[in-house]
Amino acid sequence: MNETILRKYAELVVKTGINLQDKQTLVISSPLECAPFARLLSETAFKAGARDVVINWLDDLSSKIRFLHAPDEVFDEFPEWRRDFYLSYLREGAAFVSISASDPELLKEVNPDRIVRAQKTSNIALTEYREKIMSHQNSWCVISVPTKPWAAKVFPAVSEDEAVDRLWDAIVKAVRADAANPVDAWNRHKTQLRERRDFLNASQFKLLHYKSANGTDLTVELPAGHIWMGGSKNNGKGVEFIANIPTEEVFTLPKKTGVNGTVFSSKPLAYNGNLIADFSLTFKDGKVVSFTAKQGKDILEKLLATDEGAAYLGEVALVPYDSPISNAKILFYNTLFDENASCHFAFGKAYPTCIQDGAKLSPEELASRGVNDSLVHVDFMVGTADLEITGIAADGRQVPVFKNGNFA
Ligand code: ZN
Ligand code: ZN
Repeated sequence: MNETILRKYAELVVKTGINLQDKQTLVISSPLECAPFARLLSETAFKAGARDVVINWLDDLSSKIRFLHAPDEVFDEFPEWRRDFYLSYLREGAAFVSISASDPELLKEVNPDRIVRAQKTSNIALTEYREKIMSHQNSWCVISVPTKPWAAKVFPAVSEDEAVDRLWDAIVKAVRADAANPVDAWNRHKTQLRERRDFLNASQFKLLHYKSANGTDLTVELPAGHIWMGGSKNNGKGVEFIANIPTEEVFTLPKKTGVNGTVFSSKPLAYNGNLIADFSLTFKDGKVVSFTAKQGKDILEKLLATDEGAAYLGEVALVPYDSPISNAKILFYNTLFDENASCHFAFGKAYPTCIQDGAKLSPEELASRGVNDSLVHVDFMVGTADLEITGIAADGRQVPVFKNGNFA
């Protein structure tokens, strides 16, 4: 990828993504393979006034070796120093960037029980970190950079090098880093998302009814005082940031016990090194009561059984079928991109900021207002070209929100 575009991308992440403040510390979680871009981010951050930049190196292949060969009990342990690492930077007000670039099928030979157990252990140990991040106390941003195994999965018909080039092209377009001035392009994009969000907030629908020819027929109740978010958010200090680059969604939370009917997936879900594909979920009073999956049924089953809240929804997100990422017609096998090409839901924890005063409420108060809690938060895609979503207001009035996959 051309050096000028890479620099623009790095600036976009530092300035628009986390909106780094003077003398702020930046923590970057990066796969080893993405080291050149992590270093470029680090240099860009120092030039923008960072106090320090700390890189948390990750290695997919070492994790795989550990998953295959370590004794069972290590998956129930989380080292204290690692928890302290996240918490100490969180408490000093650092910003967090993570580079999501895993091989989507990295762990397919691993016993799914180990994967879900390890995920649960880490989520329990990092509860305080997850809560602060999900209520947007600190700025954070998830981005992607190609790696060979990931690119090969997305573009299987070409050589690895060619696949990496193509994935770079697709990412650069999706994140608007190829614009003359990406920061300006994002300002325009943020305005468009704000308009959608404002319309939905003013509407305060009581129910959304989803219907599609693939069999989807689902009603989702939205709790009183729900807030649609999208584009930028403000952190605990009032500093604007963008948590995902790219982002095309506007989202809120469902009432935990208000989801009924069946929904079919429209894209495979890459979850912790495994693919879950062609699946459907049937809900009764919010809970998944039955499900099917042509691929990855065992991992889906374990995911839903993580804890009580994992079998309920925590996010409702609207993305037009006709959006830049979707129009690229590339299946990324990476949720950061696939969720931004499709209407989606998430299993598990809801963002507390999606309900009035949510960031100030205790876990019990949130629960009493219908906000789901869980150790997991996993997005899955349901948008199709023919998806219809009807908004039903408290007085019964029906308003088309989506027609033929796009905002009506
Ligand atoms: Zn989402
Ligand atoms: Zn989500």
